[in-house]
Amino acid sequence: MPNSPPASVCVRDLVKHYGSVEALRGINFEVAAGEIFGLLGPNGAGKTTAIECVLGLRRPDSGAVAIDGIDALAFPGRAKERVGAQLQTAALQDKITPRQALDLFASFYRKPAGTGALLERFSLTAKADAAFDSLSHGQRQRLFLALAFVNRPSLVVLDEPTAGLDPNARRELHRMIAGVRDAGHAVLLSTHHMDEARSLCDRIAILDHGRIVATARPAELVSNANVRPKVAVKTRLPLDAARAGALPGVVRAESQKGGWLLSTTDVNLTITGLVKQLEADGNALADLQIQGPTLEDVFIELTGRTWSTEEDA
Ligand code: ATP
Repeated sequence: MPNSPPASVCVRDLVKHYGSVEALRGINFEVAAGEIFGLLGPNGAGKTTAIECVLGLRRPDSGAVAIDGIDALAFPGRAKERVGAQLQTAALQDKITPRQALDLFASFYRKPAGTGALLERFSLTAKADAAFDSLSHGQRQRLFLALAFVNRPSLVVLDEPTAGLDPNARRELHRMIAGVRDAGHAVLLSTHHMDEARSLCDRIAILDHGRIVATARPAELVSNANVRPKVAVKTRLPLDAARAGALPGVVRAESQKGGWLLSTTDVNLTITGLVKQLEADGNALADLQIQGPTLEDVFIELTGRTWSTEEDA
């Protein structure tokens, strides 16, 4: 497609070692304007390294990064003009206010976005003149997001933007990040929250030990994977392992919390068989839930390992 605009960011065969640690082993992805693309992976997967290479903060051993078609390794200055970033290590002076911080950042650029408009856009107007150290964690994250927009970037890069936020602040930030995408910016973010990746991102790359093991829309990742739905069941009287495992469609029965978690090839068949079995035994259902496959199931299927992060531990 010779006439289509270049992807906001295009990463090709990126490799990065730290001594003997292979942090990136040849990763490829693109993010288009109007798209939220998530790098999802457990701690140490290589997310931050990938983001730092895109931002020109680290030089990869090999590979290419293009931003709006500009070779970011050959022309880092020109590429950086197109990017706004919010990093995990972001910090500001304790007593600086959101207004002062935005004005300060604006002074670095020729055509900055207006401070008033950014305060409004990121719901910071009421806190415009409050000291940084008096802001809540969520307000600080919103300020860092606002600072990423001062140079009117086409690509916005966010490293674990909601780390440590409570559920309300996380939802609020999700709403703002979705608004950024809807305004036509490309958003590249890293996360190790599966629910965040699934609900916020248009596409996800699952990163594991420096490799991308799958890239797709969240729903496609789940539907393409060879993972089974599960039926979680509790019965009034105990249901023995032989009966649970022999129900129609069941390929695996795991005992859990006084009941069974049944992986099945056919949810309807299993539930119908279960009800018949319970009637025949003079038993009855106490609780029943159908669980669709999750991104965690997809990760286990793709890597053969369980998902664990320091935050989850
Ligand atoms: P997290 O979610 O914990 O931030 P991550 O997915 O962002 O992890 P990276 O920080 O990119 O992963 O780390 C990838 C690998 O490279 C890890 O094994 C890490 O220990 C290693 N690593 C990262 N930075 C350095 C460094 N400066 N020196 C040596 N090794 C490093």
